[in-house]
Amino acid sequence: MNLLYVKKPQKMKNTLILILLFVAFFQTSCAQNSSSKNLGITDSINPSQVNLSEQEWKKKLSAQQYYVLREKGTEKPFTGEFYLSKEKGTYKCAGCGESLFTDDMKFESHCGWPSFDKEIAGGKIIQTEDFSAGMSRTEITCAKCGGHIGHIFNDGPTETGQRYCVNSASLTFESKQNPTKLSMLDTLTIGGGCFWCIEAIFEELKGVKSAESGYSGGSTLNPNYKQVCSGNTGHAEVVQIIFDPTIISMEEILEVFFTLHDPTTLNRQGADVGTQYRSAIFYRNKNQLQIAQKVISTLEANKVFTDKIVTELSPFAKFYAAENYHQEYYELNKEEPYCNVVIKPKMDKLHKVFAEKLKNK
Ligand SMILES: [Zn+2]
Repeated sequence: MNLLYVKKPQKMKNTLILILLFVAFFQTSCAQNSSSKNLGITDSINPSQVNLSEQEWKKKLSAQQYYVLREKGTEKPFTGEFYLSKEKGTYKCAGCGESLFTDDMKFESHCGWPSFDKEIAGGKIIQTEDFSAGMSRTEITCAKCGGHIGHIFNDGPTETGQRYCVNSASLTFESKQNPTKLSMLDTLTIGGGCFWCIEAIFEELKGVKSAESGYSGGSTLNPNYKQVCSGNTGHAEVVQIIFDPTIISMEEILEVFFTLHDPTTLNRQGADVGTQYRSAIFYRNKNQLQIAQKVISTLEANKVFTDKIVTELSPFAKFYAAENYHQEYYELNKEEPYCNVVIKPKMDKLHKVFAEKLKNK
């Protein structure tokens, strides 16, 4: 049980914990080495995010956020960014990013501040008595960073009877309709011989959200594996990689790609022969084309390969996902001879050369 999730009958204890928390906070502002370990709450705290000096908080927060979160200020009613907002999504602490409320907890209170009738479970909000300004109120603060959020009252109109009266400035909002994260992802389609290999390799890289085996670059509509293997459809076996460019760049992806397949053999990878096994990059825009050209010319300038790089650069047109049994083929069929003989050495090389780029490292 989280010590900080204290309900009303325990308010005295709660107040004591909060005082201790603030004492600890001010101590750590002066002495960076100490932490709030003594309070037994380190599990819920990421020191790098919340153990900031006042100077650092000032730098991190806007003036209004600092005034509310760190100086327990109250924004003017009817002025806050989220007062009337009905958008779907999650409200987070502007100090540390902890998720505190969701849109379905929000109701129109006409009081001038965003109001919620409950909080996201898990002891993320601390309640404490507040006798400031000549009033007796219950203050709410973020358990993780100690930031002041607002007050809670027992006059809510919904079944919970509660009204979390919150300053917009203490919150940030992550929209469900427009997740910024998703819109930042990029997609790249590449072929480097048998897609079982390429997919297995890219699944392991940090920043890669998914790698899916399929077919691109041909003319036949809805091709199946047998047709592609005949070499008559024009399609190459490819892997469509969805990645977060803030974690792994396209250049880094291509570096792995060119290290783990042979880009100098035309329509062939080892014993696999045919146009379906060609080395190819299907670029989606001018930027991807330029990056691919730059990486290839750098490899050639540095004479990384004895032979000429024959990787095809073509505009992306269509990706057909391969049949289900091809997805995660290596992961599910490691004992098969092909996996053992052809794929395993590539995976070993991946683990050796790109150890720091792998997930769970
Ligand atoms: Zn916080």
